[in-house]
Amino acid sequence: MSNGIFSVPKDYNEPIHSYLPGSAERDSLKAELDRQSAEIVDIPLVIGGREIFTDSVKDVVMPHDHRHVIARCSIAGEAELKAAIDAALEAKGKWQAMPFEHRAAIFLKIADLLTTKYRAAINAATMLGQSKTVFQAEIDSACELADFFRFNVANAQTIYSQQPNNSVGIWNRVEYRPLDGFVVAITPFNFTSIAGNLPTAPALMGNTVIWKPSTTAVHSNYLLMKIMIEAGLPAGVINFVPSRGVDVSKYVLPHPKMAGFHFTGSTEVFSGVWSTVGQNIRTYESYPRLVGETGGKDFIFAHNTADVKALAAAMVRGAYEYQGQKCSAASRAFIPASIWDETLAAVKEHVSKIKVGDVRDFTNFMGAVIDRASFDNIKGYIDRAAASPDAEVLFGSYDDSVGYFVQPTLILAKKPDYESMVKEIFGPVLTVYVYDDDKLDETLRICDTASPYGLTGAIFAQDRYVIAHMEAALSGAAGNFYINDKPTGAVVGQQPFGGSRASGTNDKAGSTLNLYRWISPRCIKETFVPSYAVSYPYMSEK
Ligand code: NAD
Repeated sequence: MSNGIFSVPKDYNEPIHSYLPGSAERDSLKAELDRQSAEIVDIPLVIGGREIFTDSVKDVVMPHDHRHVIARCSIAGEAELKAAIDAALEAKGKWQAMPFEHRAAIFLKIADLLTTKYRAAINAATMLGQSKTVFQAEIDSACELADFFRFNVANAQTIYSQQPNNSVGIWNRVEYRPLDGFVVAITPFNFTSIAGNLPTAPALMGNTVIWKPSTTAVHSNYLLMKIMIEAGLPAGVINFVPSRGVDVSKYVLPHPKMAGFHFTGSTEVFSGVWSTVGQNIRTYESYPRLVGETGGKDFIFAHNTADVKALAAAMVRGAYEYQGQKCSAASRAFIPASIWDETLAAVKEHVSKIKVGDVRDFTNFMGAVIDRASFDNIKGYIDRAAASPDAEVLFGSYDDSVGYFVQPTLILAKKPDYESMVKEIFGPVLTVYVYDDDKLDETLRICDTASPYGLTGAIFAQDRYVIAHMEAALSGAAGNFYINDKPTGAVVGQQPFGGSRASGTNDKAGSTLNLYRWISPRCIKETFVPSYAVSYPYMSEK
């Protein structure tokens, strides 16, 4: 019995550690990298709190050293996926009845464990398994993930405290129930924080969840699962089932009690899931909530009043950090002819200093792309550009002999609808289209309409009339829009993230908008002294 109206701790952004030479945090991270590099983790499924090892096993390798196995992951099949549904449904009653302060305490404790006891371990796992540099791992698996937990707890309290008006003799209350059934979370490889947020946001709101991680990110994701259990997450609330995506679509999605789907990944997969749900719509007990943050073709658009040095730095960081595998990464740029030579020279100057290699060497700015399929896909774009009369590869190369390495690549497109100007590549490839300075409006229209996505975009200009004009012209082109800054690096609680069009449902992870999707409100009206009347005064003739 909770006889108190509690306030959750104030949310805040986790400070970023710098890992400077000689610092204690750098030493402990290096020690952890050595320790994890020397072991092979056996990763089980976790269903109803029980670890289950299957006969079907997949090797997990370091993308920057692809012969080096760091984990062997059990893969769930039909029987295990169905067992996970049963476990989620069994755990639901007790979990949704648990007072909010206790649910919240678990997630706040996970944030604190992540940023203290397990900070080095989660960063090392993200570096080795997903090939992130120390800075990229720190802002993802330590900071952003903790931010999601702390902000979501505060956001949940904001939602729960919203109550309707009352009138004399009547008390109205709204309670925010979880959805009626279970939630499925399918997560991508590229952010440990997103992998953590997708199952936990619905769980915080009282739902029980089936979590299918990406097998290329499973090393860090399993460590997170273990931290959640250590923090007191009860059995069955989140069921961890590495598996083939198609099996989840086949055995889990059509279940009558599937009440919500929380996804981040490609547009193609989300569209496929949406059609599967559509085909099964008559079998569900409720209308499933579908939340998906998907692909992007994120842009940098410069005006001839742009500060060229800032523009060039944004192009390099925006396009090449984490090998261009952020959904927000700049992958097309529109540069006016009058500043192109100066911009290219500044970009080349930066890129000449970039080192690509094993992320355990802290002097590297970039690691490897995630796997063979991704490497081959990116290589295809570079090879076709090299052979095309409509494009020119200004710099860039690749080599997969040790790791899946792609050097920062710049393609010059001679027409604005050249394939690498409009398709998502998800690698360190930036394509530039140089436009005539006097064709600003025509080029803004191309930027707005040439690709189907609407995720992130940045403009560079100094003239305030021009900034206002460009902002208005591109109002539908991005859910996260930047002025004189790179289009990456959104921070929870500061730049709520997500896009529309083919980029997803734009439910802004880490904000109240996202949490609203995982609740089903019930309005309760209580009348203290009920009326006995049936007829109304106006019915009288006198
Ligand atoms: P992906 O779509 O290949 O995989 C995402 C998840 O879906 C993985 O767990 C995968 O195993 C699973 N999956 C694959 N096929 C499936 C199927 N048929 N049914 C069900 N699940 C299936 O994406 P990825 O390579 O992991 O991540 C890169 C993509 O994610 C890019 O398109 C990127 O833009 C997008 N992304 C978007 C955001 C955003 O906020 N908009 C953030 C991160 C990544």
